[in-house]
This record gives sequence, structure tokens and C-alpha cells, in this order.
Amino acid sequence: MAYDSSNIFAKMIRGEISCQKILENEHALAFYDLYPKAPIHILVIPKGDYENSADFYRHANAFEVTEFYQLLDRVIEHLQLEQGGFRLVSNCGKNAGQEVPHFHVHILAGGPLGSGF
Ligand code: AMP
Repeated sequence: MAYDSSNIFAKMIRGEISCQKILENEHALAFYDLYPKAPIHILVIPKGDYENSADFYRHANAFEVTEFYQLLDRVIEHLQLEQGGFRLVSNCGKNAGQEVPHFHVHILAGGPLGSGF
């Protein structure tokens, strides 16, 4: 299925809608989730057109992948999330709960998160 560039994260990357940005680099952007499911809920997205994690892992180049995970780690350091613990989640496909068809990783932190997935 072709990437749908009308999704809300693509609009953020193009600057058509605003987001509560935390950090960015050339290939990735991190911002607060508008409807947080944890005391701290952050989304990290690549700036390239990747529909989900499988698409990103197969088609992003090494620089994009590196920049993506470097930004994710910079957010963890910047907000000092490591000591209190954090969880990374990435839903791939509608059956897994993916609502926005642009690859993203959720960072959940800021309190006890329970043991469920
Ligand atoms: P997923 O269900 O894995 O696709 O996650 C999509 C996430 O995007 C959800 O946690 C939503 O709360 C979040 N979201 C939707 N619209 C916005 C927005 N405009 N700004 C920030 N986060 C959003």
C-alpha cells in the first residue's frame, strides 16, 4: 500500500499543523502526544515517508535509522527519563492499534506503567 501523505504526522513535518516539539534533527522529530496515555507521553517520528516500522526498517537508509534512534536517545537524556524508567511502543498496522499511518515510536514514562503491553 502506498504511503498516504495526508496523515497528521506528515502535516506536522510539512509545518501545516503545529505540534509541541521537544527536539529534532535532520531526519527525525520528537513531540508530545496530544492525548497522553502516561504522565509523560512522547512520539518520535522519522521525517521520511514510512508507513510503519516494517516499512522503516526495510527502506530507510542507515543515516535515517541512526538519526532516528539518536534523537530518541537525546529525548531520553534531555528529559532525564532513564532513572524513572520508560517504555517504547510501536504499533504496526490497524490490528495492532496503529491509528496514524506514519511510523512512530511512543515513549511512555513518568510513573509506574504497570506490566501490561
Ligand atoms: P498509534 O495509535 O500508535 O498510531 O498512535 C498515534 C498517536 O498519535 C496516539 O497516541 C494519539 O494520541 C497521537 N496523536 C494523534 N493526533 C495527534 C496530534 N495532533 N498531536 C500529537 N499527537 C497526536
